[in-house]
Amino acid sequence: MTDAPVIGVLALQGDVREHLIALAAADAVARAVRRPEELAEVDGLVLPGGESTTISKLAVLFGVMEPLRARVRDGMPVYGTCAGMIMLADKILDPRSGQETIGGIDMIVRRNAFGRQNESFEAAVDVDGVQGDPVEGVFIRAPWVESVGAGAEVLAEYEGHIVAVRQGNALATSFHPELTGDHRVHSLFVDMVRAKRTAESL
Ligand code: GLN
Repeated sequence: MTDAPVIGVLALQGDVREHLIALAAADAVARAVRRPEELAEVDGLVLPGGESTTISKLAVLFGVMEPLRARVRDGMPVYGTCAGMIMLADKILDPRSGQETIGGIDMIVRRNAFGRQNESFEAAVDVDGVQGDPVEGVFIRAPWVESVGAGAEVLAEYEGHIVAVRQGNALATSFHPELTGDHRVHSLFVDMVRAKRTAESL
């Protein structure tokens, strides 16, 4: 199959536009997704950075939380950055009241973990599966992953903390590649979406 995969960006809150641009640069057809009908039409989905409590509450309000869980359970490729990583965690250590996650990655995430040391910073991060130079990691009140279960693979660490994880078709980074103009992490995700489509068409 040569046609471009259609990848949504959950557009309830957060840096949606930057992801749409990065996905288009990585040769996907990118569109904003807010409603269950829109979710049903995409091959994969990005969960942007922003505020995970707000995204969680809006997802419930828009009636898209359960459909999101169902599609992730079903194996739809999904990529979460920062707040999006939090949304993919099976467990968060310090949820705000009413905060739910979609889940999908067997990991425990600590919100605002780097914030205690350093509100926001940039650092070079070596990410497994991304060829060439390290990725410039932009961390903004970023979470880190306290621990992962047996099914999850650690793709990157920074100063001893896990900052990128993959489990099957779910990918998560503490940092924001959509803000750097370097589309290699988005390309990795687009490749995951292509691989899933190819597997389904066999
Ligand atoms: N600290 C935010 C949260 O808990 C995440 C920050 C971000 O996405 N840049 O949701």
